[in-house]
Amino acid sequence: MNIRHSLQRLVNSIGTKIIFPYVLLTLIVAGIGAFIVTNLVTGTLQERFDNQLLDAGRVVAEIMVDYEQDRLAVLRAVAGTEGVPEALIKQDIPTLISLVPQILANSNTDALILLDNGGVEVYSWFRAQEMSAKGVDFSNLEDVRLVLNGYVDDAGNRRGMLTKTPYGFIIFTLGPVFQNGEQVGAVLVGTNIDEMVMSLTENAIARVTLYDTQGEVIGTSLTSEGSGNQEMLKESPELYQQVAANAQDQVPTRSVNVRNQNYLLAYGDWRLRGQSFGIYSVALPSNFIVNAAATSRSSLSMVFSMATIGVFAIGYTISQRIVSPLNRLVKTSAAVTQGNLNQRTGIIRGDEIGVLAQSFDNMTQTLEIRNEQLIEQASNLRAILHSIADAVIVLDRDDKIVTTNPSAQKILQDVAYRPTDDEKTRPIDMNRNESLLEWLTQLTTSTQTHRLKVGNRVFSALTSSVTRPDDTRFGSVIVMRDITREVEAEERQNAFITNISHELRTPLTSVKGYISLLLANSKDDLSDQNRQFAEVIENNTDTLVKHVNRLMEIAEIQTGTLKLKKERISLKKVVEETVQTWETKMGAKGISLTLESINEELWVLGDSTRLSWAISNMLQNAYDYTYEDGSVHIRVFGKDDQACVSIADSGVGINATDQPFIFERFYRIDNELTYNTPGMGLGLFIVRFIIENHMGNVSVESQPGVGSTFHISLPLDANE
Ligand code: ADP
Repeated sequence: MNIRHSLQRLVNSIGTKIIFPYVLLTLIVAGIGAFIVTNLVTGTLQERFDNQLLDAGRVVAEIMVDYEQDRLAVLRAVAGTEGVPEALIKQDIPTLISLVPQILANSNTDALILLDNGGVEVYSWFRAQEMSAKGVDFSNLEDVRLVLNGYVDDAGNRRGMLTKTPYGFIIFTLGPVFQNGEQVGAVLVGTNIDEMVMSLTENAIARVTLYDTQGEVIGTSLTSEGSGNQEMLKESPELYQQVAANAQDQVPTRSVNVRNQNYLLAYGDWRLRGQSFGIYSVALPSNFIVNAAATSRSSLSMVFSMATIGVFAIGYTISQRIVSPLNRLVKTSAAVTQGNLNQRTGIIRGDEIGVLAQSFDNMTQTLEIRNEQLIEQASNLRAILHSIADAVIVLDRDDKIVTTNPSAQKILQDVAYRPTDDEKTRPIDMNRNESLLEWLTQLTTSTQTHRLKVGNRVFSALTSSVTRPDDTRFGSVIVMRDITREVEAEERQNAFITNISHELRTPLTSVKGYISLLLANSKDDLSDQNRQFAEVIENNTDTLVKHVNRLMEIAEIQTGTLKLKKERISLKKVVEETVQTWETKMGAKGISLTLESINEELWVLGDSTRLSWAISNMLQNAYDYTYEDGSVHIRVFGKDDQACVSIADSGVGINATDQPFIFERFYRIDNELTYNTPGMGLGLFIVRFIIENHMGNVSVESQPGVGSTFHISLPLDANE
């Protein structure tokens, strides 16, 4: 496994990718080069060898001719020596013995035979052994016969003859012997083949072999006689035919191995005076060519191996120069990947790798600085988060807690700690807060806060999503503020309002009762001025009662004791009836009041008194905040599954900045008209409460100086 791994790494390594093709290419080029050089060397050697062989052949041919010339000279000398023909006729052996050996003394003749006219041997001389005539009849030999019969051809009246004698093979040259112009016999001058082969070998500096016309070896210096190797040298008559026919154009060759030595043989035609005797061969040892090839091959292999090692070393060095900085780069980048941002390659080079390493180092540097900045920022944020009193919980995309600050941990802890009987304490387990977290994460993320009671404490929770610039959400932040104090203060305030309004209502009811009674009973008894006073008292008492009633409603709303009596009613009818009550008052102020209604009833499930009060309240506002001779237009219509009412006036309008707050308690806007209008800023708060308790919605659209339009929508009651 490990080996495979390392092998894989080696194969994948850039060094291998560089070296491998480089070495392969070098090997191929070097191999081809070595092959060519070896061939050239052996080629020239072979050529030189062939030339040498040819030279040797030429020398052999020339020397054989020289021998022939010598024999002819001897022949002429013997035939021309006075007394020899005479002695031949007379068969005077002693004379011949005294004359002939003298003539032969300085020649290299090996045999001499004198024949009479009948072809019978008269006198013989052999270098090997001097012997007297034995009277052997040579007349049955064709060449002897030809000479005795006065044969003449282009080359003269001589013949050549190859014969095997008891002293070995001898080549003879034959010629006639004349006495007074008359042929009296013939003389044969011979050269011993073995002797000649020795001489040829010496002169040609090559091993020489002679073959007869049948291809049989008749003399050789290539092997020693009787060694058995002679058989091996034997050639075929076909070769003789071939050589004799093509002597000029082609030199047949053959390789033989004699005593572990390779020889190359070249053949030549053995021909004298136009007469063919056989063939000869010259042989040169050819081992040295093979040796030379081997030597040149081995020396070349040596050079080649050295060169390969050199090439490999250079390749390795080059690749290392490329690979080692790359390895460093890889190592550094791995370290950087693991967060070791203070690592640098430290490679300073002018090439592309240097540029790459430099930009990598710069990149890491930037990353390090950026990282430090981020760490600093994060710790700053953490410090801020820790120091704020509000509880902050940061959730990820899957609503899992990412960060909490101590305040949040405390709240979560309080929720998590629910000691049971057998388990007084248990560690904080974030998962136990699931119910709280679930509740928190289900809050709509908006600017609106939600109240949450944890034990006896009250929190105001605000959830907002954390989004990226491209609007993808990657979590949310929940901020919880402990508002227990505020809530307690609010409760005390409500209790106060409830109490004070109750306290005020009782005497006010009595005041109102008595003033009404006074005005009813003593109308005529009162002076005009007093009656006016009484009426002012009654009006203001009414206003006071109205205010007190509102305060009581507010208190009921706050304490949750305000009850609605819901039944199936026609919103259209409620609106129409309410609008009707306002006609006179609007008319008195010069405001045109118009109602745009539809034919069908809009059935809703609602408290007609409260809804009528809400609409009336909004008409009151329209009346209050519209200048004289303005207009108020009411529309009743159904939209989708909603019953809608819109009240549009041409009044003073509401600033965009005030619009979100006009439905809050005690919120009033300061302007010319509100200044002259009595009010506590409670009307729209109660309206919203009533509408929202009907599962409806109320909103405003307004433009300062142009007018305002209030929209109410309630769900239609589907049941008939
Ligand atoms: P108030 O008793 O002051 O009328 P409301 O809750 O009814 O209290 O209204 C709150 C404030 O909203 C008012 O003080 C007024 O400034 C503004 N407002 C309400 N209705 C209108 C309207 N139709 N046109 C202009 N301003 C309005």
